[in-house]
Amino acid sequence: MADLLGTIGEALLAYWSSPFALIILSVAGGSMATLAYVFVSNARNAKLRVSLLTALYALTIFFWSFLAASFLLCVSASGMVAYRANGVRAAVTGAVFAAYLVTAVLSWFAWRRGSAAILKRFAPREAGEDERWVRDYVEAVAGSEGLRDVRLGIVDREEPLAMAVGGTRPSVLVSTGLLAALDGQETQAVVTHELMHLRNHDAQFKVVSTILSRALFFDPFSKFFDPAVHREREYLADEMSGRTTGRPAALASALVKIAAKPAPSKAAWGISIYSPRGGMFSRYPPLRERVDRLLSLSELLSANGEPIGASRSQS
Ligand SMILES: [Zn+2]
Repeated sequence: MADLLGTIGEALLAYWSSPFALIILSVAGGSMATLAYVFVSNARNAKLRVSLLTALYALTIFFWSFLAASFLLCVSASGMVAYRANGVRAAVTGAVFAAYLVTAVLSWFAWRRGSAAILKRFAPREAGEDERWVRDYVEAVAGSEGLRDVRLGIVDREEPLAMAVGGTRPSVLVSTGLLAALDGQETQAVVTHELMHLRNHDAQFKVVSTILSRALFFDPFSKFFDPAVHREREYLADEMSGRTTGRPAALASALVKIAAKPAPSKAAWGISIYSPRGGMFSRYPPLRERVDRLLSLSELLSANGEPIGASRSQS
């Protein structure tokens, strides 16, 4: 036993004193620090921040998978006589591939299974007579955004829910409670927000990152960055919805109305358009900041679009 531990210890020492392994660790660490710096220094560029955080998140997963694979390879290869001579290089290469593979397999699994699980949980139905205009609107916007075959699903629930589900059957789900609470323009704004999540692949990302962050439960970095990525994605979807409909204020008013309703049931936490839980570990930005940003966008659009004093003839 002591012999075995000694051999493993030697193997680990040889591994972690090899420049090859250290270079990979420092490249990963350096890239993470650089991305974090660019993130912090670009406070309001939602699109850039989403990409940076997504890359950071992927690097974190890679980093931990690499450490785990390195350890496993060291333990399993330590008994081989040839390990000291040139085994380290092979082990590092193996660990890099294993880390990629783990990340890819986990992501693929979550991607395929996650969306199906959400559809099953909420059991949406086809739009009825009264909801047909929403379906037509979804199809029109999806078409103009280059999204194919997006379905509208109606969820018969009192709570105001709106969510985007990716995967093989991309869908926007809205609850009857939401349709009852909002007026036409607000509904359009909310549905457009969800379509923007589909366009930005946020829906799949959300499911993937939920599963991965559970797998990486020990990683403080992902505990902080996973919610941060989602908050940035919310801001971005809000902004794109406002620009697409031309009425960011309608989305702001919809959010305020939804927030005034009782909190959604636990099943809907983390996937609907709004959640009352806030703070650093929440996946939702504070309501106030979302509304402020939407209203500034509204001012900007009306200042750019029409001379001051011109009347708006939209109904
Ligand atoms: Zn959203």
